[in-house]
Amino acid sequence: MKKDTILVRGGRAVTGPVNPPVSRASTILFKDLAAFDATRADRFGALRYGVHGTDTMFALENALTRLEGCYRAIVVPSGLAAITTALTAVVKAGDHLLMVDTVYGPTRAFCDGLLARNGVETTYYDPLLGSGITERIRDNTRAIFCESPGSLTFEVQDIPSIVKAAHARSIPVLLDNTWASPLFFDALAHGVDISIQAATKYLCGHSDVLMGTIATTEPWWRPVRNVVADLGLSTSPDDCYLVLRGMRTLGVRMRHQMQSALAVARWLQTRSDVQRVLHPGLHDDPGHALWRRDFIGSSALFGVELAANSQAALTAFIDTLELFGIGSSWGGYESLVLPARFTRTVRSFPLSGHLVRLHVELEDPEDLIVDLAKALAAMRAVDANASSIRN
Ligand SMILES: *Cc1c(COP(=O)(O)O)cnc(C)c1O
Repeated sequence: MKKDTILVRGGRAVTGPVNPPVSRASTILFKDLAAFDATRADRFGALRYGVHGTDTMFALENALTRLEGCYRAIVVPSGLAAITTALTAVVKAGDHLLMVDTVYGPTRAFCDGLLARNGVETTYYDPLLGSGITERIRDNTRAIFCESPGSLTFEVQDIPSIVKAAHARSIPVLLDNTWASPLFFDALAHGVDISIQAATKYLCGHSDVLMGTIATTEPWWRPVRNVVADLGLSTSPDDCYLVLRGMRTLGVRMRHQMQSALAVARWLQTRSDVQRVLHPGLHDDPGHALWRRDFIGSSALFGVELAANSQAALTAFIDTLELFGIGSSWGGYESLVLPARFTRTVRSFPLSGHLVRLHVELEDPEDLIVDLAKALAAMRAVDANASSIRN
């Protein structure tokens, strides 16, 4: 089945209520000891104790397993929890981890904090390294973590080359695939061993749930699932219900926002008060060729370098926007803006103006463009240098 059909059919029965009901439970009752003991062999699949999941969570996991084409998907209470549990499953004291320099900030904080304190050494690598990553692999390297495109600067990674180098040394590749979602980048088909989603974003799609998902190959399922259980993480059935409902429309939402975001990005490229637009779906983006080769579509999250560099200009631009809300996260149905602030230690990313991150969603793109034009005018009004930077 194609992905759109899986999104509609996955995790539900063909008779009875269309949507699997919310099944809330801690204790599950059994008729006798034999029935209770019969569930021991598969504590993560059989209904046994609510902490390991109820029927609503299993329905979501089943839908995700089909969508990702993985062995078995795992759900956890946030995107960050998906990252930290997966990393905890692949590295231990004395091991070395290769982490992409453009990774989501809290992932970097986990490596430099908790992992470092527990004896795991992290080396950051250039997101533009492909097969050259071989030279960074040490005898004790136990995992390579990717995020493509990179957080805030949107460099596209050569995942197949990294996978080839990693697998030659029997090292698993982990990928934070939130930007593309399972719809626009087929992580496991490209050789990724553990693919992570902040389901908080597109899978949920409505800005009202926090959740993470982990899709693994067969050898990695049990190690990751055991960490989730060891840490006592359990995901609310109400949230599972909402994510499953959000997924039904993932295809239409993502294809629609892709077109709107590209229209807005192309308009921004024509502006003299915009220095550059960072969006791999644009033909002149440095990551476009790799994106075209590997991805099926593009997300609605991209960067805009303004041709203005004063704090007053940034404030005027952001505060003038009416249709772009100021707030963390993204992937809902509403457009958002934030200043893009990041830490890099390997590949610097020189900027002459302020970088902002835009999330273009389901409003009419013409209205969004009018809103952006007003904000750019407000920015120019307070920044004498605006648009002269370009020359
Ligand atoms: C939002 C995000 C996360 C974290 O997800 P939460 O559910 O907010 O914990 C991880 N990676 C990327 C790329 C994200 O955008």
